[in-house]
Amino acid sequence: MRYVSTRGAAPALGFEDTMMTGLARDGGLYVPEDVPTMSAADIAALAGLPYEEAAFRVIRPFVADAFTESELQDLIARAYAGFGHPARAPLKQLGPNQFLLELFHGPTLAFKDFAMQLIGQLMQAALQRSGERITIVGATSGDTGSAAIEAFRGLPNVDVFILYPHGRVSEVQRRQMTTPVEDNVHALALHGHFDDCQARLKDMFNDHEFRDGVRLAGVNSINWARVLAQVVYYFTAATTLGAPHRTIDVTVPTGNFGDIFAGCIARRMGLPLGRLYAATNQNDVVNRALKSGLYQATDVTPSYSPSMDIQVSSNFERALFDAYGRDGNAVRQLMDDMRDHGQFKISQGAHEALTEVLGSGMTLESATLQRIQTTLAETGELVCPHTAVGLDVAERKAGDAPMITLATAHPAKFPDAVEEATGIRPPLPSRMSDLYDRPERVTEVENDLGALQQLIRDRISK
Ligand SMILES: *Cc1c(COP(=O)(O)O)cnc(C)c1O
Repeated sequence: MRYVSTRGAAPALGFEDTMMTGLARDGGLYVPEDVPTMSAADIAALAGLPYEEAAFRVIRPFVADAFTESELQDLIARAYAGFGHPARAPLKQLGPNQFLLELFHGPTLAFKDFAMQLIGQLMQAALQRSGERITIVGATSGDTGSAAIEAFRGLPNVDVFILYPHGRVSEVQRRQMTTPVEDNVHALALHGHFDDCQARLKDMFNDHEFRDGVRLAGVNSINWARVLAQVVYYFTAATTLGAPHRTIDVTVPTGNFGDIFAGCIARRMGLPLGRLYAATNQNDVVNRALKSGLYQATDVTPSYSPSMDIQVSSNFERALFDAYGRDGNAVRQLMDDMRDHGQFKISQGAHEALTEVLGSGMTLESATLQRIQTTLAETGELVCPHTAVGLDVAERKAGDAPMITLATAHPAKFPDAVEEATGIRPPLPSRMSDLYDRPERVTEVENDLGALQQLIRDRISK
């Protein structure tokens, strides 16, 4: 199994190198050269299996010989052992044809745990084999950072540094990053915005001397291994509802386009997904691009669903690569337009290819709160604001096929919005109810590349 860059100019790599590299050297994203397919019988056989066994069968062909079968089985088992629900990704019925896929039973209460827990295990296994050590640096607006820290805390051979914007993440998100006691965890509160965090991270990757010196590795959402882990729950959910004998529609609360792109992969593997709907908040660059064919970034406006407050939707590039018939030069041209003019125009043919599978919708702030409220009134479920955006769009798009909406975070991770909508402050699950009492450990840092690099060098040499 080989992986190629969406911009066509970086070397093809195997699974392990693709995972360790993250971003391709030509600035592109890695995708499988050929997407393996599953027969209808293989898909039908997934119904009712334990999540870990289904994950093994879906993931195995992508990993090929990077890990033995028993290694892979063992790593998958470890990745999901800490989840708070035996089904890992339980499907809940909300209405006659309406379902919620709960992806928030992982250790940090957001769907990012599915990918991050697995990538933590896979990277650690690869490092143990090679005897190398790496430094993971990530930038986060909240959920990615906490999931990464949770996945890598205490692992030998890895230091994990997470940059988050000081004072701009929720208290639960911050505490999930600042309360782990392990020495290899370094929460850094940067004086600046999320964009500053991301810019400094990019600077570090572009400083090749520093990058090689500390053996920098990335786990942000463009890492192929993260997308791959997310393909699994499309299979478990759809087969629960009768796939492959039945077609299923899915609505996905969308920011960086990683989660919904995993659905596109599941569909290409043979899972009969009908349409995949990208649900955005008021930061609706993806919704506008899918509707009009013009991708036009604007300023980010903070919302109740901060994990979708984004204008540069990185994984959209992977969908473009397929829509352009895997023409890396065409994708490179679009990304150059984006860099130079803040926008690009999708060709008519590519736009038609994209919208054959993908639909979209947008939900404004007041409708988000209203949806939290009506969902509670009609179904008894408390949902987080990201999930509410999904449910709102799903209702508008509902057709004859069953509709699954992905519940991307636990309501207790965003208690202020939920309380504003319903008057109820959702409690944390009991397994983490002492989060508010644990001591915090964090280093405040200036928005200064040199100082950050020095701090990282000092910390890893201890
Ligand atoms: C990251 C995140 C999203 C957006 O997912 P993408 O893969 O970036 O599109 C939606 N909801 C929550 C709670 C998230 O943490």
